Amino acid sequence: MKKGMVFNIQRYSLHDGDGIRTIVFLKGCPLKCEWCSNPESQSIEPTVVFEATRCINCGKCMEACPTGARLNDDKQCEVCGKCVKACPTGALEVIGREMTVDEVVNEVEKDRSFFENSNGGVTISGGEPLQQPDFTRALIEQFKKRYIDVAIETCGYDRWDDLKSIAELCDTVLYDIKHMDSEVHMKFTGVPNELILENAAKVADINQNTIFRIPLLGGINADEENISAVGDYAKEIGVREIHLLPYHRLGEAKYRKLGMEYKCEAYTPDDDTIDKLKRLLEGKGLKVKIGG
Ligand code: SF4
Ligand code: SF4
Repeated sequence: MKKGMVFNIQRYSLHDGDGIRTIVFLKGCPLKCEWCSNPESQSIEPTVVFEATRCINCGKCMEACPTGARLNDDKQCEVCGKCVKACPTGALEVIGREMTVDEVVNEVEKDRSFFENSNGGVTISGGEPLQQPDFTRALIEQFKKRYIDVAIETCGYDRWDDLKSIAELCDTVLYDIKHMDSEVHMKFTGVPNELILENAAKVADINQNTIFRIPLLGGINADEENISAVGDYAKEIGVREIHLLPYHRLGEAKYRKLGMEYKCEAYTPDDDTIDKLKRLLEGKGLKVKIGG
């Protein structure tokens, strides 16, 4: 039975696809976007996170730790979870759990009545689900056997063979486009955009329900030149719908828990700017939605 590294299963979401959805978040991502709201997803390995505001300095985690990693950064954490169990205040948490396909499918099945009443389904997100392509494919095959609608959210920076085999199985592909200029893309995400754009055209060719999603980041990509270029590219390759996702800083606290620095200096575009960009895309004949 295939296993994958899952970091969350979120129920009753009204985003990330049609109707009421259950979102399965998988760990691992090839990008390092400055604004990432799920930094705990970037590593494919499970991680121990620490919330300093809950810590009462009792030292129980250090006593429980078999490797000394709680006390000394030079020691290797084996993610055994003993410190988490020992902590009386919930200041520690393990992010990431190995699950079988059946375990994930059984969790999602609990929400079937919500899917049926709302034309909803399951969305596989991350991280980047295609960092675990065999597990993702096996999940989708099981959902489709059960007549559950499946959307996938992808950054597109993937091997084409993997992306092809998954995009052709899904009902919807939510395809993230961050910036049309490869140098700017590289600066803010850590990778260039050529492969992403090339794969987008191929995905749109095999899945008619491919939707572009653009995180709208003031000072980075929420300008007419970039959004117009995304719209033109969507038209060129046959994508008919774009979702604009205004930037928020909700993930910032997670960086502190992970001991990471939040470097993003983007701002949330104002309503007039968002409306102007929406109308710009609609003027190209695209269907546009604010939010996912
Ligand atoms: S997860 Fe285990 S090895 Fe890692 S810090 Fe906690 S007790 Fe130590
Ligand atoms: S066991 Fe929890 S509360 Fe006690 S020192 Fe460790 S993290 Fe802090």
